[in-house]
Amino acid sequence: MDLGFTAVERSLRAEARAWLAAHVPPEPLASLETEAGFAQHRAWERTLHEGRWSVVSWPREYGGRGCSLLEWLVFEEEYHAAGAPARVSQNGVHLLAPTLFAHGTDEQRARVLPAMAGGGTVWAQAWSEPEAGSDLASLRSVAVRTEGGWLLSGHKAWSSRAAFADRAFGLFRSHPGADRPHHGLTYAMFPLDADGVTVRPVGRLDGKPAFAELLLDDVFVPDEDIIGEPGRGWRVAMSTAGAERGVTLRSPGRFTAAARRLVTLWRAAGEPLDGALGDRVADAVIRARAYQLHGYAQASRPGPADPAGAESSLTKVFWSELDLALHETALDLLGPRGELADTAGEAPAGGGWADGWTFALAGPVYAGTNEIQRDVIGERLLGLPKGRRG
Ligand SMILES: Cc1cc2nc3c(=O)[nH]c(=O)nc-3n(C[C@H](O)[C@H](O)[C@H](O)COP(=O)(O)OP(=O)(O)OC[C@H]3O[C@@H](n4cnc5c(N)ncnc54)[C@H](O)[C@@H]3O)c2cc1C
Repeated sequence: MDLGFTAVERSLRAEARAWLAAHVPPEPLASLETEAGFAQHRAWERTLHEGRWSVVSWPREYGGRGCSLLEWLVFEEEYHAAGAPARVSQNGVHLLAPTLFAHGTDEQRARVLPAMAGGGTVWAQAWSEPEAGSDLASLRSVAVRTEGGWLLSGHKAWSSRAAFADRAFGLFRSHPGADRPHHGLTYAMFPLDADGVTVRPVGRLDGKPAFAELLLDDVFVPDEDIIGEPGRGWRVAMSTAGAERGVTLRSPGRFTAAARRLVTLWRAAGEPLDGALGDRVADAVIRARAYQLHGYAQASRPGPADPAGAESSLTKVFWSELDLALHETALDLLGPRGELADTAGEAPAGGGWADGWTFALAGPVYAGTNEIQRDVIGERLLGLPKGRRG
């Protein structure tokens, strides 16, 4: 087994490192969960795109570099090590784009992907509903057939960044007589500024206003904005879900960079230190490294780069718990200083831990709760008898 990088991978790393060193803003951007920060992050997407770094794994015709999953992992390591801004385009680039590559038409890819790659169109995910989170198949929003398209109505909840995004993608009940709840669903893309759409911000723990619910009242979408066959949207949705839980949404580079910052914090904390805290630092570093090796192993396998299905549930539980462990350890190291929000202007060196922690708290919930992922792992990977959902 050869764990070394090829000349191509090394050269990509060097090129990315040099470009990032020259372009990453010296001061952190405002939070992308605020209107001003959202605009700053959109502009950063444009800069990334001009350097051809916004979608490195996509084919060249859509603005990518045709990179393999391993090359993408290398790029991501450099991206996070450089402290580059969070990606406001992530729902589009990491969730909708893989879905379009798998189920979209050539026309949809040609129309949707270039604008997404340059930050011109930022996407929101409109899946969850008040009574349909973990049990997504119980969703009630509808798509009703009309001349040349569909009319969408219903109530979508918990949509990240929807207050400022341009368009959304979601699932709708289009064939009410279907024999099973996950049959008769249609996967649609729609504009958030269309007639009939009300975007209502939902308060978050950190008080930032980008999270929203969407009220839809006869919102027209043309046929060309339906992905896959009408009525068979569940299959399309499972492709998105696999991408959401696997390594591509939360790349190992994010956690190896955070683990390095944690070690710096540990060194700066000075003596005497609680030994148990040192053990937690070491544990977080080991877990980040394990996730990095898992990413390499996945990238080295033949077949689909990031297989949808039960294995992505395993990845999701791992990264969300690691994120929490990293942030909780950092806050315990910082003591009372850790409670200063970044916005206080007095955040301690290597700030971001308090804000990162409030976001990490949501990790075991979004992208499918960890309880549900554990059920999937037990049943599908370990072959255990069906549990609570029996
Ligand atoms: C920060 C954040 C961002 C989000 N962003 C988006 C977004 O952009 N787009 C979007 O569509 N959604 C988004 N969501 C919604 C998220 O996907 C849902 O919160 C999640 O799927 C859980 O659904 P729920 O909140 O309805 O909880 P419920 O499904 O009601 O679950 C409540 C609790 O019961 C447990 N539970 C439920 N059923 C079972 C079962 N059968 N077995 C064991 N335990 C069970 C759950 O694990 C959970 O602990 C976001 C959520 C958060 C917190």
